Amino acid sequence: MTTPADRLQAVRARIAAAARAAGRDPAEVRLLAVSKTWPAAAVRELVALGQADFGENRAQELTGKAAELADVPLRWHFIGQLQRNKAAAVARLGAVVHSVDRVSLVRALARAGTEQGRPVEVLLQVDLGGPEGELAARGGAAPDDVPALADAVAAEQGLRLRGLMAVAPREGDPGPAFARLAVLAERVRSDHPEAGDISAGMSADLEEAIAAGSTLVRVGTALFGERPLPSPEDESHQSHGSHQPG
Ligand SMILES: *Cc1c(COP(=O)(O)O)cnc(C)c1O
Repeated sequence: MTTPADRLQAVRARIAAAARAAGRDPAEVRLLAVSKTWPAAAVRELVALGQADFGENRAQELTGKAAELADVPLRWHFIGQLQRNKAAAVARLGAVVHSVDRVSLVRALARAGTEQGRPVEVLLQVDLGGPEGELAARGGAAPDDVPALADAVAAEQGLRLRGLMAVAPREGDPGPAFARLAVLAERVRSDHPEAGDISAGMSADLEEAIAAGSTLVRVGTALFGERPLPSPEDESHQSHGSHQPG
């Protein structure tokens, strides 16, 4: 049986090895522990082992867990599809929002950031499409729409643009998709130098993502184990998404 400490160490070792193999400094890649479906106690355990960043994909689960963990020093990240009416609740927690994919959400988060007097840090989620290049409906803006969306974020006092985020297509080699993300990230960074983060790579493909320049890997299963139940997000992936833009 592996312990959380074993798993954390193993994931850190994978990240460091992938970075070195790509000629990168391992310190350039941060680990985001995806705690969706796992109880607050599991988060507490990893914080005690030195893990600082945690990701959730449902607003209600995030706010509940954050309340239970109010005494724990950690940083939340929101990585799921976000409805406008949940934007303020997520912003209030100081969460970094990785899943900004439309102007209506930009406006809602900007309003929340302005009202609370602390800008919301955001990444733009890019839809990398399926194996044949069609949009995959896993959330995310079409690549062609990303530069304008970046401009919209940068124009808002209540937001800070941190970079881009993506999930690899369900099938096929993730390498080419991550390479396309890196090209787009470079283009966004040329207009917005502060947008230096690339949030890409999960338990199964973090090596490919790091090879393509990821600075933030989002790892759930390899840290916590197989999720007890599929999260709603995963179910919508399997049924090719009943994506409801907020
Ligand atoms: C669940 C999830 C992850 C983590 O996936 P694992 O395969 O469990 O590592 C990463 N990113 C997003 C957007 C997720 O929903």
